[in-house]
Amino acid sequence: MIVAVQPLAGFDKLLHYRVPEELRADLRPGSLVRIPISHRQHIGLVLALDVTPDVPLAKLKALTSVVQEFPALTPDLIELARWMHTYYAARMESVLETMIPTAVRSGARLKHDKYLSVARQLTAVEETALAARAPKGAKLFAFLRQQFKPVKKSLVLSRLDITAAVATALLKHGYLREELRHVERVAYSDNWAEGEAVVALPPQLNPEQASVVESIGKSLAGGKFAVHLLNGVTGSGKTEVYLRAVESVLAAGGSAIYLVPEVALTPQTVARLRGRFEAAGQQTVVWHSHLSEGERLDGWVALASGRARVVVGARSAIFAPVPNLRLIVVDEEHEPAYKQDETPRYHGRDVAVYRAKLAKAVCVLGSATPSLESVANVRAGKYQLERLTKRVDDKKLPDILVVDMRIEVMRQRGMVTLSRQLVDHMHQRFERREQTILFLNRRGYSSSMLCRKCGHVEECPHCSVTMTYHRADETLKCHLCGQQHGAPVVCPSCASPEIRWRGLGTQRVEEAVRRVLPRARIERVDADTMSKKHRFREILGDFRAGKIDVLIGTQMIGKGLDFPNVTLVGLVDADLSMHVPDFRANERTFQLIVQVAGRAGRGDRAGEVVVQTFTPQSDAIQFAKRADFDGFVEGELTMRKNFAYPPYRHLIHHQFRGLNPEKIVFFAEHWKKQVEATLGDIVEIRGPSAAPIEKVKDEYRYQIWYFTTRTAHVVAELVKLQAAYKWPTGVSQVLDVDPMSLV
Ligand code: ADP
Ligand code: ZN
Ligand code: ZN
Repeated sequence: MIVAVQPLAGFDKLLHYRVPEELRADLRPGSLVRIPISHRQHIGLVLALDVTPDVPLAKLKALTSVVQEFPALTPDLIELARWMHTYYAARMESVLETMIPTAVRSGARLKHDKYLSVARQLTAVEETALAARAPKGAKLFAFLRQQFKPVKKSLVLSRLDITAAVATALLKHGYLREELRHVERVAYSDNWAEGEAVVALPPQLNPEQASVVESIGKSLAGGKFAVHLLNGVTGSGKTEVYLRAVESVLAAGGSAIYLVPEVALTPQTVARLRGRFEAAGQQTVVWHSHLSEGERLDGWVALASGRARVVVGARSAIFAPVPNLRLIVVDEEHEPAYKQDETPRYHGRDVAVYRAKLAKAVCVLGSATPSLESVANVRAGKYQLERLTKRVDDKKLPDILVVDMRIEVMRQRGMVTLSRQLVDHMHQRFERREQTILFLNRRGYSSSMLCRKCGHVEECPHCSVTMTYHRADETLKCHLCGQQHGAPVVCPSCASPEIRWRGLGTQRVEEAVRRVLPRARIERVDADTMSKKHRFREILGDFRAGKIDVLIGTQMIGKGLDFPNVTLVGLVDADLSMHVPDFRANERTFQLIVQVAGRAGRGDRAGEVVVQTFTPQSDAIQFAKRADFDGFVEGELTMRKNFAYPPYRHLIHHQFRGLNPEKIVFFAEHWKKQVEATLGDIVEIRGPSAAPIEKVKDEYRYQIWYFTTRTAHVVAELVKLQAAYKWPTGVSQVLDVDPMSLV
């Protein structure tokens, strides 16, 4: 048998290999194998069996071995890899490396522990002899004889204070038996200790939920590809709908993938799934990048072998090699976090829909604020719309109070972090022992330094971005290249001491809260806190347990979390997401307010939301205040249509980088002419222009934007042109298909 293998060795070319007799039985398309390439061993992935060799048979080399017992890619994943390779203009190798966890590719082994037990009873003579000859051996034997089952070797030896040599001697005599047992490393197996609110018994569905569950159930029973867009207000019980869908898939012997936008959201979701399905013997596997190698490998094996049939995780869990995939849930489908910002630059939701199509499975996209892309797909008849318009148990959506910060600044005469209304509300909650969440979508203490006298703003000398002030060590840091220096006490330009720290950071908000609520227990969660492995889960656990009164954080706590005692949510600066040069800025702001508001009033008491802004009249804020998704969509889609922005056309971003800006611009212009000549009638080209962040690590960045309705075709043509084009040295370039952020 001859097979075609894609090596993971730094180049995109299929190689052919002979399969030795003894490996044939284990080999399937998607198997990971070890292969020789010019005297070195590499890993590769079998993409096709029984191919016709491209070189004389005698010259073909043989596969060395099969790395994992189970194929790393199911047939639908092999197809998916091919699609991602072309659609996202990514190298096949990088696609495969993204799909298959390192722990699996490296051929890591399952963990085994040694267990000891008694092999046979001893005769009286043997026993006396042993006691005389080796008292420690006798002690070990006597201990093991009393056990009902094999005991972990390391444990017995340390308990009885005996060396391994003693056990070895008894093993040699055939008195003892040693066996290897697989030790499964399970991520979040300690979830229960966190006080996660897990309701194991399913609640009675309300009529809206029941009708959605029925509609999804019909698609599942039909066994055909279908996409349902579940637009349900926050707290409407979307998760319960997902759980019911998973349940029916499990009952029918199928597998389900459940995606959440952030690693931070997995513990809560895993706890819910385990609470529901573990008792029935269904294992839920966690899949994301923050696991240990062992947890990754064991979870992967559980899925690939079909032993576990549910997987929860961030973006990359969409590549779980589950057999018989029936259902994919994409929670918070509007989240830009689903888009990967390094190659392959894929969008987790779009890949989910495509995989569902290949596997003839059902995809459920859920959100309180669906993306305009998905709304457009509903209007085009591609997705089926489901709605949950009410919170469960008729809980009210929170009232949204919009605070005009222009007035607040005049009243308080200067920089304001917390408006009076927000402070009053926080006081009330504190008195009533209810909890508050404050959001700020930015990290650090305060973003930049501004001289109030001459207007000087300190910038990084290597990147065209302002430096960020970090209070803890009194430094200014560049968040792009890492350059840092001490914070100046007087303006570097005019020597005035009138330095202001412009913009807000979570640390700054924390200090303001400590001033107004000195007795409150306050915690802060942002990217800095997240860098410590368990800190984030700890804080969420404490918050849930009521040990924290005010939680301050970036968006990462704004998504999907469910804390019943939170009755007040403050959005400290709604303008941060609005005044950025991106056509999605309104959509982001609307989503942010609605999502953040969704964290309030999930328990028995109603919730309130305070939104601080300098532009209270803007559409995004007004529609969010009225929780009017349809109204917002109407206006926003009209704008998008007028400008022919997504979802009316697709966008492709082409970035050029290099040390010499003139050279980059020259080649970008030249390249643009070539593209215009070949693709001019199906592509609108904008640029080249300087990237919003023009210089990073001394490298200049320019960009070209392509607008088109024929994405796949255009990408393929661009890749062809790229390959034929004579690129100068010193200019590198990146294509990003369907970028989610323009800044
Ligand atoms: P969403 O995902 O839409 O924000 P959740 O699924 O988290 O909402 O539901 C909010 C809360 O309501 C959860 O605590 C959930 O257990 C509970 N819940 C969901 N459906 C029902 C129901 N039919 N009856 C009672 N409680 C429910
Ligand atoms: Zn100055
Ligand atoms: Zn820099």
